[in-house]
Amino acid sequence: MKITIVEGSGFCFGVQRAMDMIEKAYEDGLRFDTLGPIIHNPFVVKDLESKGIRAVDSLDQTDKKIVVVRTHGVPPQVYEEAEKKGIKLLDTTCPFVFNAQSAARRLVEEGYDPVIIVGKKEHPEVIGILGHAWNKPVVVGSPEEVEKLNIANRRVGILSQTTMTFDLFASCVRAAMKYAKEVHVINTRCATTERRQKATMEVAQKVDVMVVIGGRNSSNTKRLHEIASKYTRSYHIEHPDELKKEWFDGVENVGVAAGASTPPWLIEAVVKKIKEIGA
Ligand code: SF4
Repeated sequence: MKITIVEGSGFCFGVQRAMDMIEKAYEDGLRFDTLGPIIHNPFVVKDLESKGIRAVDSLDQTDKKIVVVRTHGVPPQVYEEAEKKGIKLLDTTCPFVFNAQSAARRLVEEGYDPVIIVGKKEHPEVIGILGHAWNKPVVVGSPEEVEKLNIANRRVGILSQTTMTFDLFASCVRAAMKYAKEVHVINTRCATTERRQKATMEVAQKVDVMVVIGGRNSSNTKRLHEIASKYTRSYHIEHPDELKKEWFDGVENVGVAAGASTPPWLIEAVVKKIKEIGA
């Protein structure tokens, strides 16, 4: 049985960087909590909890003097609140998210009105970006929403939540160009997610069965499973113990994909188990 691991599976650059920063801080003897779960993987969250690192919803809930800001970033008010409370922030905001925050702020400063963020209103990353731009931008999730804005003859700035697809972002830019006098586009997408999705699609077309690893609440993992399911039989698992022998009966080619919050050790453990039960 041949097992193909989708290129770019598991931790993306930003999550790997955040995990490395956290690990180093812990090894240096620092003790801290995280503002929200650092990633959507129950095993990683549990591992952190076993080290006394808790995910708190607000700075009021921690008794530590250091709190981790996760890759999604936070609005500036959180930095101010931390300073008032005497809490240090270990900031793991992904550099791509940081770019999006700066882009939104710059567009507002340069007088573009409205500044449009293509993304999900309730997503923590978008809440952070909005905060860095004085909450002035409007958030849209579709070109139809852009068309409903009153932008005729106006100077429009437009950027994207990092994980939006190229097609969605481009369709929103096109919609803005229909009416606005000027459209200033800053491409703040991070291509990692889309690259992984494309690679998953390519592998799924060539294999008899796909195993997609990641937290059940991880939206990027669910999306990989949806993509794989279009082309072949696909199973979404969180842990190797969920694998069933009958999935691999008569199977010659297996594909393995993993979401951005799946640690390397978990991918290795799944591949090992597939080899054992499929042998
Ligand atoms: S998906 Fe992209 S923007 Fe998000 S944390 Fe990973 S590298 Fe950063």
